Amino acid sequence: MKKIVVVGGGPAGMMAACTAARRGAEVILVEKMDKLGLKLSITGKGKCNITNSESDISEFIKKYGSNNRFLINALHAFSNKDLIDFLQKEGLKLKELSGGRIYPNSDNAWSVVDVFKKCLKDSDVQVILEAPVKELLHYQNEIGGVVHAKGTILSDAVIVATGGKSYSRTGSSGDGYDLARKAGHKVTDLYPVLVPFNLEGIDETLIDLKLKNIKAWVTDDSRELAEAFGEFYFTFWGADGSVILRLSRYIKQEIQEDYLTLHVDLKPALEPEKLIERLLCEIKDNGKSTYSEMLKNLLPAQMIPFIISRTKIPADLKLGAMKKEQRDTIAHILKDLTFTITSTRPFDEAILTSGGVDLSKIDPRTMESKIIEGLYFAGEILDIDGDTGGYNLQAAFSTGFVAGDNAAKELINEED
Ligand SMILES: Cc1cc2nc3c(=O)[nH]c(=O)nc-3n(C[C@H](O)[C@H](O)[C@H](O)COP(=O)(O)OP(=O)(O)OC[C@H]3O[C@@H](n4cnc5c(N)ncnc54)[C@H](O)[C@@H]3O)c2cc1C
Repeated sequence: MKKIVVVGGGPAGMMAACTAARRGAEVILVEKMDKLGLKLSITGKGKCNITNSESDISEFIKKYGSNNRFLINALHAFSNKDLIDFLQKEGLKLKELSGGRIYPNSDNAWSVVDVFKKCLKDSDVQVILEAPVKELLHYQNEIGGVVHAKGTILSDAVIVATGGKSYSRTGSSGDGYDLARKAGHKVTDLYPVLVPFNLEGIDETLIDLKLKNIKAWVTDDSRELAEAFGEFYFTFWGADGSVILRLSRYIKQEIQEDYLTLHVDLKPALEPEKLIERLLCEIKDNGKSTYSEMLKNLLPAQMIPFIISRTKIPADLKLGAMKKEQRDTIAHILKDLTFTITSTRPFDEAILTSGGVDLSKIDPRTMESKIIEGLYFAGEILDIDGDTGGYNLQAAFSTGFVAGDNAAKELINEED
């Protein structure tokens, strides 16, 4: 029987190992940490947003940005529906939340890890824990096995699924990039994405303030770089929340070179003229009230002192005495509140690594290296990054499936 080594016991590696073993290969899964699926266990705030129910594959693909075409084959070979079917057949109950996000019913990411642990056991995969792989063995352009901390394994195929380099305490600290480079692969520039922003001089009255349904966008000196909608919250270093994480995917390069401007529209449902009309009504109906009292009808209480200081309008100004310029200033700030982004938070606080093993030397139909025969890559180590909403785990599972399926298929065909 031919032998396959899978390096890394995350979603991509576990899926690859289960798939190859079910196809009849002898599979050894080598994991650096003392547990499988540590990163998987913290996904979706510990609840694990496994995938997304989006049924239109062309819409699904759009969530992966400029390299998305690479995933077309993998997402056809093992789609979100296939993943849902697979997990349900393994006995995991699932539920769908807003935005098509699929979670285990248990609200516990460990229940997803447990499905894979059982699958590995049932299909006789040998799991070696606490054994970081240090070297890939290859003879000219053919793979020969791996060297790990506890020994050497000779094998006919190796699938590298070591993940990215974010949240390194889960074991994903970028080891696979060096393994790939030494095997002759190029690794593109790496950036932390789906990551919060550091903002300049954050006012401490704003810390922990959460805002829902916010529109935000980022500009450099000359143009708008990205726009997003969603939840936003202030932290002691700056800004976090779904809207910020989304924006971070589109400013990853620019933020390395320059400070950027974050714009926040606190009233995205109101066109500027409608907002002015709303302010005029407030002023007309409550001429004897003060500016700060009017803001109570427009904003969360925690935000009011900050907006008063930004507009530089006295809090106790009577609405009846408010000038047109002052009204325009308020409207402008509510529609375009700006902050300076000094940097993103580091890799260890990023959900994802953007960049990775250069896709031009990977066959998208099989995940096999075009440089070393019998070497495969799967998961976040590849130069692919997706949006929030379950898209990154789906990419890991789909590419893991394709790598495991093809590694086993090619070996079994060779045996025939
Ligand atoms: C906080 C957080 C929340 C997230 N939430 C979601 C979510 O809800 N939905 C979603 O779709 N995505 C989410 N993601 C992203 C998702 O977790 C990753 O994209 C996905 O885990 C990548 O899978 P992978 O198998 O490629 O890599 P990983 O999950 O990183 O697994 C790689 C494995 O390889 C092992 N390894 C590394 N180096 C070696 C070595 N030298 N030898 C042996 N083993 C090694 C690691 O220990 C690890 O177990 C989240 C990420 C984070 C950090």
